[in-house]
Amino acid sequence: MRHTTPSLAVLAAALAAACAPQPRADVEATAAGAAPWDWSDSTVFAAVNQVRAGRDLTPAAWPGGARVAVLISFDVDNETVQGLRDGTVSVGPLSQGQYGHRTALPRVLRLLEGERVPATFFFPAWSLKIAPEQVGMIQAAGMHEIAVHGWIHERNSALDGPTERRLLEQAVDAVTEIAGGRPVGYRAPSWNFSPNTLSIVRDMGFLYESSLMADDRPYELVQAGEPTGIVELPVEWILDDAPLFNPQGDSYSPPRDVMQVWIDEFDKAWEERTMFLLTMHPHISGHRSRIVALEGLIDHIQAKGGAWFATHEEAARYVKEQAGM
Ligand SMILES: [Zn+2]
Repeated sequence: MRHTTPSLAVLAAALAAACAPQPRADVEATAAGAAPWDWSDSTVFAAVNQVRAGRDLTPAAWPGGARVAVLISFDVDNETVQGLRDGTVSVGPLSQGQYGHRTALPRVLRLLEGERVPATFFFPAWSLKIAPEQVGMIQAAGMHEIAVHGWIHERNSALDGPTERRLLEQAVDAVTEIAGGRPVGYRAPSWNFSPNTLSIVRDMGFLYESSLMADDRPYELVQAGEPTGIVELPVEWILDDAPLFNPQGDSYSPPRDVMQVWIDEFDKAWEERTMFLLTMHPHISGHRSRIVALEGLIDHIQAKGGAWFATHEEAARYVKEQAGM
């Protein structure tokens, strides 16, 4: 498609406007008065430049000469998404949440242990408070990471900034106390990233963030034109078990078909020498007919060779160091 080129003066003015830190309220106030097709250049640029992908952080080489980094993560939502976050306490869905820590997580951990594959487990604080024994189960293997995934799987964009900040601060405190160490990674519940989220993540000193989708490769987050020093480990709905494994949804796919999508994603990452990151959920993928998809994927990766399996923290530290950040 052919694009018309705006004049340099227009671009410069838009960039100047966009690069000045512009909080969400300003962006929304500017945008609110007019239909989007009548927005000024500065309004559009300010909107898209709230959070942007900066430089590609793919290193020249992965550790051990590996071609590709493989990052497996589990969002251990359990009861928080099975009702609690919406204030509903229906017994049936809550029992599916209990399945997550009672049956699914142990099955997932047995597979990872057998394959010697490390993973990162993102917890809403309430998921840990309900079943703190999950910490011991995860830490027994001595290779996994525990990170934070909100307080009760709240939707950040539905909250005002101070409330979002308070919930994340108390979540980090709770996870730190229960897991015995302060998490360095953050993933927004439902990947729901409010215009305040990045400022909060920066203020709290996280090493990395993993909720956004501007690349397949690790990159540096840029806020209103300013590089933040925070590593983004991007996600994608293609690389998530939740939408396609929902038997009540309208897009259910057999697990072995989903496994093939993941294998194709991995093979291209292997060719391109970049990164493969998969998001799963114990209460979804820990079922017997679905764990075979993860098992088949890991077997494929192991057989192909050249993969560096790492936690998100290990990968974030490595790319940051390699980039001289
Ligand atoms: Zn989640």
